[in-house]
Amino acid sequence: MITLFESGEHKNVFVNNLSTGHMIQANQHVIVNNGEGIILDPGGHKIYTKLFSMLSTEVNIKNLKYIFFSHQDPDIVAATNGWLMVTDATAFLSGLWMRFVPHFGVDEMVVERITAIPDEGMTIDLGGNPLKFIPAHFLHSSGNFQVYDPTAKILYSGDLGASIGQEYDNVTDFDAHIPLMQPFHERYMPSTKALKMWVNTVRQLDIEIIAPQHGAMFPNKEMSARFIDWIDSLQCGADIMGDSYPIPA
Ligand code: FE
Repeated sequence: MITLFESGEHKNVFVNNLSTGHMIQANQHVIVNNGEGIILDPGGHKIYTKLFSMLSTEVNIKNLKYIFFSHQDPDIVAATNGWLMVTDATAFLSGLWMRFVPHFGVDEMVVERITAIPDEGMTIDLGGNPLKFIPAHFLHSSGNFQVYDPTAKILYSGDLGASIGQEYDNVTDFDAHIPLMQPFHERYMPSTKALKMWVNTVRQLDIEIIAPQHGAMFPNKEMSARFIDWIDSLQCGADIMGDSYPIPA
């Protein structure tokens, strides 16, 4: 696992090379504080075994307290049952998706450990330090959250900030990076207003790193600010489409 931040008993690590074949590349993040851990968007069955063994080098599995799901997509929630069966963790997911995830098959004995995040978000305690679940609805899912870690000053932005096809972990040339983000954001992000709400929200946070679930990170204040400015200027989704669709011939 690659270390993003480490100070005293607080550590932020990630792994980015477990997706193979037809799977979209995805980053799996872990935060450990005073021996307690949370895993963010752990992904599906194909990476579950490898991720689980890598995770155990960072935190005693008994102390994996939380599993966070930013939204309901398969690259995030598909292995929910496995994670709940082998840990005692509490999983968090938008209340909008609570009745959908059990369709992946979640045993009766563990389903009660999936906890609804209210629309307005919430703060949890990880080993004595806070973590904030920040609302980022419609980016891209209608019930969607990001994680802000005030200790490391990292915003885990889920699908927002995703890039596809880059061969680096950290964005250093923002302008060169734009073409790797733009098509994804124009099509997967449904609403320009939702982007503006996000910009107005995260400008209240002290951010050193923005870490999306796919592709490269914005590794410092300067790149994170450029990303926020870029989102502020972007038009997306329904707002850049026409007034109707042609009927397929
Ligand atoms: Fe998604």
